Amino acid sequence: MEKNIAVIKGDGIGPEIIERAIDILKKIEKKYSHKFNLEYVDMGGCSIDKHGVPLTDENLEKCLKSDSVLLGSVGGYKWDNVETENRPERGLLKLRKELNLYANIRPTKILKSLEYASPLKVSECDFIIVRELTGGIYFGKHSFETAGNMRQASDIMVYREDEIKRIGKVAFDMAKKNKKNITSVDKANVLYTSKLWREIMNDFAKKDEYEEIEYNDMYVDNAAMQLIANPSQFGIIVTENMFGDILSDEASMLTGSIGMSPSASLSDGSLGMYEPIHGSAPDIAGKDIANPIGAILSLAMMFRYSFNLFEEAEDIENAVYKTIEENYRTADLMPKDKELANKYQKVGCAEMGDIIMSKI
Ligand code: NAD
Repeated sequence: MEKNIAVIKGDGIGPEIIERAIDILKKIEKKYSHKFNLEYVDMGGCSIDKHGVPLTDENLEKCLKSDSVLLGSVGGYKWDNVETENRPERGLLKLRKELNLYANIRPTKILKSLEYASPLKVSECDFIIVRELTGGIYFGKHSFETAGNMRQASDIMVYREDEIKRIGKVAFDMAKKNKKNITSVDKANVLYTSKLWREIMNDFAKKDEYEEIEYNDMYVDNAAMQLIANPSQFGIIVTENMFGDILSDEASMLTGSIGMSPSASLSDGSLGMYEPIHGSAPDIAGKDIANPIGAILSLAMMFRYSFNLFEEAEDIENAVYKTIEENYRTADLMPKDKELANKYQKVGCAEMGDIIMSKI
């Protein structure tokens, strides 16, 4: 198979973790006789420094023409005082909009051997959050006004039927493929957008093609509680933009470190954008201590969701799990307890990447 991949290393720890993912991509390319043409693209703070904007039209075009995009992370202290319209994150928003990436997929898998690192000591769960990414309150009309001496602000939340239907289809198809149950999260007891959301999700659940899927509705406040109380009940959680934003960050903490979790943002076609869920971690950048696993597992998601290369994706995932089982740990995964820490071999970002690569 031949594919063109746009690679955005970005800022902070972005370049360090993406280099590890690229090593693994090259190993897979050789082992399975594929050809991956890589096009490196500047985005974020590094693009502001070089080109004056977070994403140039030329670089956006390179991403649009690619078969998929692999991203590290953008942002950092250096650009904190840049005006809002030109901040590094603006490049990311532009890319999501132009690629029409409306479905954000975040798997949360807890490995038994990392139970000690999970703040809740959760030992097993394996679920996926499917978050609507381009509608809802973040994209509604915002206003901030002063009437007399009273300030008033509003954010309007709008969802159209077609926006809910397309994310519902992504979630139900995924549940069917992975034999997982679905929980649709809303606030239908208060919000009209949630009433519409619930009606449409219930219509999906009644369709013949999805009859084998176990389905339930859950209010968002309960979902926030259930994620802590009993996360193993979930298979797929499908939810709107803001609820998904909050719940997926909550879920990421179950795994023990933000450095472990990958994500995919998908559109209607096969083109997707794949990135670890964490930011650019400027506090640890350039020290060779970042955890590259979120980036490496994002690459595995690219193989699975954009290229249908399932064996290659599993090969990468198994190499990661084996490395963890063999007790290799980056600093973020080291136990605080000194006696327990003796059980593990502390490694840097580059060494972690090499060990994972050696298991493919
Ligand atoms: P962050 O995720 O960068 O860091 C939060 C904490 O987690 C830090 O202590 C950091 O050291 C640690 N951490 C993050 N990734 C790690 C890894 N792979 N291995 C080990 N430790 C890791 O969040 P933040 O500090 O709020 O944001 C820093 C910058 O990143 C900001 O400029 C923010 O805007 C940007 N950001 C970018 C993205 C993105 O590119 N998609 C996402 C979130 C934040």
